Amino acid sequence: MSEVNRITDLLELKDVEVTQFKSYAQENHIFISVPRTKHSCPVCGQLSDVIHDYRTQRILDVPLYEKKTYLIYRKRRYRCEHCGKRFFEHNSFVPRYAHTTNRLFHRLYQDLHSVVSQVSIAKRYQTSPMRIRRLLDALSPALPALPEVLGIDEFKGNTNKTKYHCILTDLQSGKPIDILANRTEATLITHFRKYQNTQQLSHVKIIVIDMWRSYYTVLRQVFPHAIILIDRFHMVRQVIWSLENVRKRVQKEMPKSLRIYFKHSRSVLLKRSDKLIVNDHINQELIRDRLIRYIPDLKKAYELKEELLAIVSEIHDPRLARQWLNSWIQKARDSNIPEFASCIRAYQNWKEPILNSFSSVYSNGITEGCNNKIKVIKRNAFGLRNFSRFRTRILLSFA
Ligand SMILES: [Zn+2]
Repeated sequence: MSEVNRITDLLELKDVEVTQFKSYAQENHIFISVPRTKHSCPVCGQLSDVIHDYRTQRILDVPLYEKKTYLIYRKRRYRCEHCGKRFFEHNSFVPRYAHTTNRLFHRLYQDLHSVVSQVSIAKRYQTSPMRIRRLLDALSPALPALPEVLGIDEFKGNTNKTKYHCILTDLQSGKPIDILANRTEATLITHFRKYQNTQQLSHVKIIVIDMWRSYYTVLRQVFPHAIILIDRFHMVRQVIWSLENVRKRVQKEMPKSLRIYFKHSRSVLLKRSDKLIVNDHINQELIRDRLIRYIPDLKKAYELKEELLAIVSEIHDPRLARQWLNSWIQKARDSNIPEFASCIRAYQNWKEPILNSFSSVYSNGITEGCNNKIKVIKRNAFGLRNFSRFRTRILLSFA
């Protein structure tokens, strides 16, 4: 088999004739053409096989023998004898103005849906990071449809300007639908204003947020009929912080060995009491009792945490939840533990959205899961400083 025939086989392109193959140190050049046939004129439809002239197009293809590979395509231009129109012959592998073959484009497109870094993709296909960036720009997703149940959360960004990006999730499908550059009121308003002339806004029935005031302020305006609720995880976190701060305060006054014991046993305090492990090797209930027995503030803080977790996990009736939450807030106040002040304030300020969560099954837990994948993209995204491309990569990876 001649080399040209072998290359023709390797190319696996339909209707392509290889006329010459040149292999250089860094690159392959494969000279190709397509068979001459009659083409119908795009203007009048008459068949013609009158060749007007030739153009040569250099097209990047997938690597061959692990080398950058160009197809040097000698392209015919036909002339219609009926109307005089000049037009290029058809081919199946490259659009008219493209610099890459269709199949290279599809491989790049596929890989951009993964979490692999752009630099790696560029290397894999022997192309430049610039080409990958341009492709990403072209793939930037349009404004997505709004879901019935919308989750809004944030994640730490790595692009220059802002610390936190905002992630919008369809909590029924579990997929992110959009990423915003930050979580300021101005950004949120500008974003949702894009939906103003669509029917989309009324589609949203439930919104799950954390205790970020800008979310509430903006969403209340934009979605006046939607139910806004606080994610339970974010609610519980407040009381966990308070308990942790009490532990840190009381252990400060302890001798070093005891201080370390307290620090290492902290997970026992944070766990729900009915999840504590008691067996032949370990008795976490005993450890817990030792930790809190002689320290009234820590004991009280622990009990407040336990009671709140019980309310959150066991009560699903909003009316009952209101009674319990009110009485919990009163107990926390009566305890006079300074570390609970911010927790009490948060529960007071956010009482209605918190109570809404008691009759709903939705939480931002899914979004937290998405954040793990985003972290991988972020880690692989050295050089992905451009927010819009970062957004595109994230959305493609969940598509
Ligand atoms: Zn014609």
